[in-house]
Amino acid sequence: MTYLGAIEGGGTKFVVAVGTSTGEIVDMESFATTMPEETMGRVVQFFENKKISAIGFGSFGPIDLNHASATYGHITLTPKPHWSNYDVVGHIQRHIDVPITFDTDVNAAALGEAMWGAAQGLSSCLYMTIGTGIGAGALVEGKLVHGLTHPEMGHLLVRRHPEDLYAGRCPYHQDCLEGMASGPALEERWGVKAYELSSDHKAWEIQAYYIAQAIMNYMLILSPEKIILGGGVAKQQQLLTLIREQVRTMLNGYIAHEAILNRLDTYLVPPQLKDCSGITGALVLAHQALQAAKAASIKHP
Ligand code: ADP
Ligand code: ZN
Repeated sequence: MTYLGAIEGGGTKFVVAVGTSTGEIVDMESFATTMPEETMGRVVQFFENKKISAIGFGSFGPIDLNHASATYGHITLTPKPHWSNYDVVGHIQRHIDVPITFDTDVNAAALGEAMWGAAQGLSSCLYMTIGTGIGAGALVEGKLVHGLTHPEMGHLLVRRHPEDLYAGRCPYHQDCLEGMASGPALEERWGVKAYELSSDHKAWEIQAYYIAQAIMNYMLILSPEKIILGGGVAKQQQLLTLIREQVRTMLNGYIAHEAILNRLDTYLVPPQLKDCSGITGALVLAHQALQAAKAASIKHP
């Protein structure tokens, strides 16, 4: 049996797992994200003696995914203290000699859902997370979208809700989507934890107004076959209902497809893999790393 290593690196916690290329997780652990040396040390320690053949790593970002770059595998410019310019992939590679595929946490989650979750069998989907930050990963024509760096779909500009006086908290753009609708924004605006707000609180209508704008834009630009909404804040089921209503209202019938007009409840859905979309997707990344290494060794034995 070939075992694969998976890492989901988040700003709050890291999840590490060992699993198979069919998506079965046989061992999993999670721990708080602290200082980079300490956190990456725990990652390496977990994989010691696990006999894994490759690693897939979905990471919080921004990250450098360009193989030709001197800073490939680094976290680049993050407001998270001590992690800016930290070489996360290099740290692993110094201790574990297996091929590694590195990607964004949200791309990994999109891949996990496409392989074994809500978007199984589809060649396109989008995974959006609303948690400490907001981000999205997209699969288009069977491939994860990268580009010059990687998409940063959490920082879209949004139209302000007419009753919302909150200033926004994005250190770069103030009232971009993440600045207005991340978990911490929601909590700063209302002065309570997000899960303490009653399900009929005004907060959810305002929240849905912002998230729906982003989803409409993602739909217009990428036309994904399925949109999956994950992250802590999206656990509020009433929010999903409100978002669907707003998306329908804002689109105003413009995308004349039955999936949008009549089946939005099966188009815009929670993650089928629950809290495991990212770590399961990282297993797929590991499988890809192994396949790529095998192909390279056939070409250059
Ligand atoms: P992270 O983004 O750090 O990986 P989460 O996706 O859990 O982690 O997001 C954390 C944010 O989501 C926090 O602001 C938290 O208050 C909020 N959150 C977590 N669980 C819930 C819940 N059940 N309902 C509403 N908000 C929640
Ligand atoms: Zn921003």
